[in-house]
Amino acid sequence: MGGTFDPIHLGHLVTAEQARADLDLDEVVFLPAGQPWQKEEKTTSAEHRYLMTVLATAANPAFSVSRLEIDRDGPTYTIQTLRGLHSAVPDADLHFITGADAILNILTWKDADECLDLAVFVAATRPGYDLEKLEAQGVREQVRVLDVPALAISSTDVRERFGKGRAVRYLIPREVEEFARKHGLYDTKGNGLALGGAV
Ligand code: ATP
Ligand code: MG
Repeated sequence: MGGTFDPIHLGHLVTAEQARADLDLDEVVFLPAGQPWQKEEKTTSAEHRYLMTVLATAANPAFSVSRLEIDRDGPTYTIQTLRGLHSAVPDADLHFITGADAILNILTWKDADECLDLAVFVAATRPGYDLEKLEAQGVREQVRVLDVPALAISSTDVRERFGKGRAVRYLIPREVEEFARKHGLYDTKGNGLALGGAV
């Protein structure tokens, strides 16, 4: 499951667990993106996003986090990740889990056809995004649709909540909230501990 995970939230975790159960997957590997080329806003450092992903997934024996994308220089392209995973575990039956919004960009991805050859693409339902567009793009056949309990949570909203001092509890794991506060990751006033300001 690829993503920016800035920060990881319950929508990601519910989607991953539902995919594991419904598709009978042995393992779900979270792949925090190095430098997301599709995001214009500045993202939190890869190392902080990686650590939050580890904190959020540590208790689930079927979840793991890969450094594949963050250790590679340059922008993140899904095709390179899939090639890397395929050569690491050639016999694995790879599934690439995305939400309904990410799958809709599928045709804008570099080498979309090769991506579809290397993995089964799984599109999780997500509030506010319409999977019917898949039909129009002619990729409905190649994509497996996964029904997940609707959680209208996004990292963008979580970051805004941090910035405005609004509650994020029950939207992100407790450990992730504490880690983000400790390092002042989404503190727009810039007075987090990591920045050396007064607390
Ligand atoms: P941002 O608002 O910064 O874009 P995000 O919440 O969309 O963050 P990403 O890291 O961009 O999170 O998403 C990683 C993957 O998880 C994408 O494939 C996305 O579609 C999927 N996803 C994110 N949130 C949900 C959700 N609430 N339900 C289903 N899928 C989701
Ligand atoms: Mg997103």
